[in-house]
Parts: sequence; C-alpha cells; structure tokens
Amino acid sequence: MGFSLHKRRVCGVMGAAVVATAVILVACAPPSTQLEKVKARGELRVLSRQAATTFYEGPAGPAGLEYELLRRFADELGVELVIETPDTLQEILDGVREGRADLAAAGLTVTEARARLVRFAPPYQHITQQLVYRRGGEAPRSLVEAARRGDLEVVADSSHAELLRRLKARHPDLTWRESPETDSMELLQLVAENLIDYTIVDSNELALNRRFFPNLEVALDVSEPQPLAWAFALGEDDSLYRAAQDYFRRLESSGDLARLVQGYYRHVDRYDYAGTRTFLRHVKRRLPRYRELFEAAAERHGLDWKLLAAVAYQESHWNPHAVSPTGVRGMMMLTRATARHLGIRRRTDPVQSIEGGARYLARLIERIPAHIPEPDRTWLALAAYNVGFGHLEDARDITRRRGGNPDAWASVRENLPLLRKRKWYRTTRYGYARGNEPVRYVENIRSYYDILDWYLQREQPAPPRRPVLAIATPAL
Ligand code: GLU
Repeated sequence: MGFSLHKRRVCGVMGAAVVATAVILVACAPPSTQLEKVKARGELRVLSRQAATTFYEGPAGPAGLEYELLRRFADELGVELVIETPDTLQEILDGVREGRADLAAAGLTVTEARARLVRFAPPYQHITQQLVYRRGGEAPRSLVEAARRGDLEVVADSSHAELLRRLKARHPDLTWRESPETDSMELLQLVAENLIDYTIVDSNELALNRRFFPNLEVALDVSEPQPLAWAFALGEDDSLYRAAQDYFRRLESSGDLARLVQGYYRHVDRYDYAGTRTFLRHVKRRLPRYRELFEAAAERHGLDWKLLAAVAYQESHWNPHAVSPTGVRGMMMLTRATARHLGIRRRTDPVQSIEGGARYLARLIERIPAHIPEPDRTWLALAAYNVGFGHLEDARDITRRRGGNPDAWASVRENLPLLRKRKWYRTTRYGYARGNEPVRYVENIRSYYDILDWYLQREQPAPPRRPVLAIATPAL
C-alpha cells in the first residue's frame, strides 16, 4: 500500500548550553504514534499460534477466531495482516513486550502475572481450565490428586503452568512437567494415547479437539471462568491499544462478537462422539478406495478434496449404493432432477456421482453473493446443497428481517429452523422446509472435515516447527 499517513513532526530541542540560566526545553513528540506507524507501513504485525481455537488453514483459506477478529481489525485500519507463529507462548509474549510485533492474538488468558507485563484489550471470550484424563481410568477429584497419582503435563509458561505454580505454594510436593514445544492439542493426544496421564487445557481447546479423541474426559474445572484477550506492549503509546479497545466495544455491542464466537463453537456442541469412531474406521477402510476420485473432482472444480469427501460422508457414509426413501441416491445423494441438470446419468456410479456433487457444490458456492467472504460462503453453499438454494435465500431473508446478519452463517443457522414454522414460512417465497436439517448437515460436515484434516496430517511426517507467515489482503 503506497499511501502515507505518516506525518513527521518537526521537533527542535534547544540545549541547556545556549543560555545557561534559561534552559529551554521544547517538548519533543515522537515522530508518530504506534497507530500511525501501523497505518504508514500498511501492515498489522501479529504474533499468534496455530490451533483450532486461534488460527489455522481451513477448507477455504486461513481461518480461526483470532484470525477473523484480526482480519476485521486490519480491514478497519486499512492495512494488511501479517501473522507470525512463534513456537512458544513465551516467545509470543516476549515478542510483543519487545516491540517485535504490534500485538499478540493467541488465545491468551488474562492472568495476574501477565497483566503486569502486557496490556490486555477487552476480552473476547471466557474459558475455564479443565483437567483432562483418559476414559476408563478413575477420574481424579482434584489437581493435587492428579499430580500425585500420575504424569501431569502442561504447556510451558501457559496460564495452566501459572495455576500450578500458585498451587505449589500451598502444596510443595506438587510436581508436573512443562513442555515448551508441545501444544494443548498434542498434549490431549498424549493423554488419549496413554503416553501421559493428565493435562490441563482451556475449555475451548478441549471443545474443538475432543472430537478427535473420543476417549478423553474432563475430570473437573480447575479455574474460574477466565478471559481471553489480545496483548499489547505496556508503555506510553497506547494509540493502537485504544483502537483495539474501541473495536472490541463496537464488535460486542453490535452482537457480531457473539456471532463470531458461536460460528466457531456451536457446531461442536452437539457432536456425537460415537460417530467419530465410526468415521475414523471408515476413513481407514472406505476412503482409500475413493480418495483419488475426490481429489480429481475437487481439483477440476477448485474445491478442497477433504471438504468434498466430508460432504460425501455426510450424504452416504461413502457408500456408492446408498438410497434414501426420498429418492436421492449414490455417493453424493443427488436427486434425479439435479443429476439430470448436471448431466449425470448413473447416480450409483461413484465416478459420476462425485463429479456431479463437486460440480453442484462449486456452482452453489459461486451463486452465493460475491460480497460474502469465506468461510461463510462455503457454509452457506453447503446449507443450500442440503435444503436448496431458494430455501436458503428465504432463511437469509428472515435473518435480515429479524435484525441478524444474512451474510453470516452463525446468524443464518439460527433462523433456518424457522422455515418449519407457519408464522414464518408463510411470509417466504419458497415456503415450508425442514430448516433444522441443513444446520445439522453443515455442522456435521465441518466436524468430518476437521477430523479428516487432523487424521491426514497425523499420518504425514511432522513438519518442521518454525514460524509460519500468513499474509492476508484486506477485503476491499
Ligand atoms: N490460554 C492459554 C494461555 O494463555 C494457552 C492455551 C494453550 O496454549 O493451549 O496460556
């Protein structure tokens, strides 16, 4: 971005040597505030961490709650977003304190110790710390009991470590391990695989990762609800911090904050854990037969093959001969009319069915109004795949009338079920629809996608752990 808002202030200092008796000090303002500097450089530099709760590569590009909050903030400032992900929480906090980045947005808990070192913006979410164990074992009744009974490991320099250090003042024999390079998700995996006994993670981390580890259980909450917030350096210049404060206040009062948070958590609320086991079994046994078909069709239509596979699983459990009482059939469960429209002859032929489903989904994504950004675009298109485009439009219209945001999946999903209510469907163009089904449908697909993505990554050799740089251009 070539523009410059950066105005250098001329500042003069007259030394005391000029007139010994009358020392004239001309106040010298710094050349510009931090906010002005960010705007002048055209970049907001942020330290984050990669996790399902914060920032990750989703089916349609970068995603995550922190990522979305940051992208909106950067858009408001009219700058690009540059995210770096150091390996440890300590590096993230130090980086901000030492001015190597403008802020940290890493699912950071506002703790007493940290509040002395950095300045926290208004919270965007509240979590509790949870003690996690493996199902089948006996649930520990307290943190102290867990630490005595088995291996307890937490992320180094995390809020969890801070909690344990405080507890140790009263229980000097308390022991645990801290690992700087292992994140919460990996710790959960270690518990699930019986390599350690217990860990403490934030409730939001568990909510999103538990789907991958159906044998994990929460023993108890070990903290009060705690706020998560962005961290800024202390110091006199609080211009950027105040801009963020203002941003969060507006986000909160418009209801957008709650919607954004829900967008990331609602779909796991009702997740069926037994379903995960079946899904993983099918990933191992059935998916290999069809994977190349998904990859090829996805590539032809500019889709993520894992998303296509997740849709197919939701539709047919990857069974090419699936039939439903309503006459839809095949791997992608196309209706006869849709198949004809797409030029598909044999719906039970997996090659044709997958090609038809991919073509249909790509068309639907394209039909979603152009101003709606990802990932909502994809979620809305999936809802349309299930309920039909007309009904989706009706639900978006109801959303608008009820003061919601018709472009946000989190808002539309609240209103889709109203299509079953006479009071509402009477006022729509396409009338009655089983509007709760697309909600469930999209949520399941998101979960299948996440699990598949996680499973495939685990199969690959671990990537080198070095900072990742993501650059996102602000939406115009
Ligand atoms: N919220 C935790 C903290 O601020 C970090 C959570 C995690 O690393 O999983 O220390």
